[in-house]
Amino acid sequence: MSATVLDGKALSLAIERDLAQRTAALRERSGGQPAILATILVGDDPASATYVKMKGNACLRVGLESRKVELGRETSTAELLAVIDGLNADPYVRGILLQHPVPAQIDERQCFDRIALEKDVDGVTTAGFGRMAMQEPAYGSATPAGIMRLLKHYQIGLAGRHAVVVGRSPILGKPIAMMLLNANATVTLCHSHTQDLAALVGLADIVVGAVGKPQFIKSSWIKPGAVVVDAGYHPGGIGDIELAGVIETCKAYTPVPGGVGPMTIASLMTHTVEAAERAAQNT
Ligand code: NAP
Repeated sequence: MSATVLDGKALSLAIERDLAQRTAALRERSGGQPAILATILVGDDPASATYVKMKGNACLRVGLESRKVELGRETSTAELLAVIDGLNADPYVRGILLQHPVPAQIDERQCFDRIALEKDVDGVTTAGFGRMAMQEPAYGSATPAGIMRLLKHYQIGLAGRHAVVVGRSPILGKPIAMMLLNANATVTLCHSHTQDLAALVGLADIVVGAVGKPQFIKSSWIKPGAVVVDAGYHPGGIGDIELAGVIETCKAYTPVPGGVGPMTIASLMTHTVEAAERAAQNT
């Protein structure tokens, strides 16, 4: 039997159609008031600029307004904190996205944590992570939340399955491990000090590649019948996993591109619309 393609592109389009209806209803209820997603781009990293542009385009498609804040590469932590304070205080701004990574002189963690919890639609704050981990209401980190939605859509069973996550970054590896754990998977979280990675990956019913190194996870490590989730994206349209070798033998896989990437943006849009709906309820 051929593997199921976990088609993030198709699912994200369906999600966007639903969101467009919800933002239209919101606008009608609020007398045309905009619901804004503010994006902050610091510096001139071309990949980050592309990601921010893609997020702005998605806002247009779903009927959100996008406000782009662009800051120079010499921006200090204090200056960035002041910008975030301004957006926190703006009643029309429903969500704030600070594009990662920021230049090295900036204390990224401090800036992430300055984002008001109710506007943390990218799920980057320490408080948001803690609440998500404790299964309290919070917007989970966008990429992991997108992966979980994709797995749910394709009815991939998680309870009692062994998930092996390779990578433990605050925006990806750690939160996806916690979300899988909360879904009753047994989770192994691997990182650069992990020993015998190949053997651990070989035990996985579900493999999540979140390493940031092109095709680092070899197809020969992955057991037949596993579900393969590749969060990586590198120039040339390749991910963190050697996908070509597993497409024939795995149960399901996320293509690169068209798997996890579109779901990240769909999560961000979903969280922003939810934040706008919540704010509208409270006014
Ligand atoms: P990151 O912050 O660089 O983290 C990489 C992780 O991989 C670290 O935890 C690191 O371990 C681990 N690692 C590095 N070398 C390793 C090794 N030899 N063995 C085992 N683990 C190793 O990266 P990230 O931001 O999480 O991104 C990971 C990938 O996801 C990238 O390809 C990125 O482009 C992609 N991504 C995609 C989206 C999307 O929307 N599709 C969003 C975000 C990221 P240590 O902690 O020990 O250093």
